[in-house]
Amino acid sequence: MKVFKFGGASVKDAEGVKNVAKVLESQHFEKCVLVVSAMGKTTNALEKAVQSYFDKNNYEAEIENVKQHHQNIALDLFPAEHEVFDEISNYFQVVKTFLNDNIIPDYNFVYDQVVSCGEMVSSKIVSAYLNEINFRNTWLDARDYIKTDSNYREGNINWEETQKQISTLDLSICYVTQGFIGAEANNFTVTLGREGSDYSAAIFAYGLNADAMTIWKDVPGVMTGDPRKFENVSLLSNISYEEAIEMAYYGASVIHPKTLQPLKQKNIPFFVKSFLEPEKCGTKIGSADKNQCEESYILKEDQHLMRISTRDFAFIAEEHLSQIFALLAKNKIKISLMQNSAISLALCLEDKYGLIEDLMQEVRISFNAEVVKDVSLFTVRNANLEDLNKFYAGKNILLEQISKKTIQVVTN
Ligand code: ASP
Ligand code: MG
Repeated sequence: MKVFKFGGASVKDAEGVKNVAKVLESQHFEKCVLVVSAMGKTTNALEKAVQSYFDKNNYEAEIENVKQHHQNIALDLFPAEHEVFDEISNYFQVVKTFLNDNIIPDYNFVYDQVVSCGEMVSSKIVSAYLNEINFRNTWLDARDYIKTDSNYREGNINWEETQKQISTLDLSICYVTQGFIGAEANNFTVTLGREGSDYSAAIFAYGLNADAMTIWKDVPGVMTGDPRKFENVSLLSNISYEEAIEMAYYGASVIHPKTLQPLKQKNIPFFVKSFLEPEKCGTKIGSADKNQCEESYILKEDQHLMRISTRDFAFIAEEHLSQIFALLAKNKIKISLMQNSAISLALCLEDKYGLIEDLMQEVRISFNAEVVKDVSLFTVRNANLEDLNKFYAGKNILLEQISKKTIQVVTN
């Protein structure tokens, strides 16, 4: 059994959906689970609708636009009388009814019930289209298989339950299902974090003991740098799980950080390939002996640099650190880089939920703290350390750290 994941960019329009069939053909479509993300920028559009709902703006019109967009894509794929049109309408009706009736003011809960609609609709369209052209497949509701706790927007997997459910799948047929979503014990939808469809695919691969997992991207594979941000980058054909985990940690967006762990645990080969050139090899991520150590560049943007020091000129000690870390965890702010000296601590932070000001207020109760917003963290892996200047040229360096062959600088 193989697991294939098609991201939003690969199914952004009718041409993209048709191309899924071409990709499957190139791979000699056999038994597989296809995990599909929401089409194009649907997730962002639904996020905005949720915001409008809470701001008491016209969220219904926004949802209607998203629905119309999907109906238009379907018009290019199906005959007018096809049942998929009603199915698309139904998903959006479910969302509207949910919002009309909802009395629970929890943003994250509402977000998950609404935003998940993007994956429901896209997987339905892809499944119906493949069946229409005789690529026989069964559509699955991923929420019946991926079981989580109720940590909305960042669900934690209940591996035992999930494994139990996935084991019931018939390995002799093909399935199409959704990325990004699961369900908690009461069957409310829980999303797995933005860009979480890769993780969903890895969870299915783990549960099925898959032979391999492939994610289909608009880049040739894992490169030595994001081609949209760096010149002269090249393809890494073979890297280890460990190297891939490190790259994801430093911010290489081509790999979702949580995806590697289930695959590594069962030694499932992981391919990153281009949906535009599916016959090409792409990148294989697997066991450590095949690791290709090339200088690679990773830019993590939208970071904040916070500098904290003690009020009384005391050393930054363990109890200070644990107090600061507790505040970070509470505000769901992640540390991308940290450096401490006797009386100060510098933290490069990722603030997914826009809570940096709340954090600052709380930190300032006990410490001196300042923040430089909108900085970038630039990381070089396997760096040739002989000529550091080439990494620093033209940059305003706010913080720097070198460890082994990794250089990291915070710049603005
Ligand atoms: N649709 C979700 C997102 O855009 C999940 C994914 O694409 O992986 O974040
Ligand atoms: Mg996406």
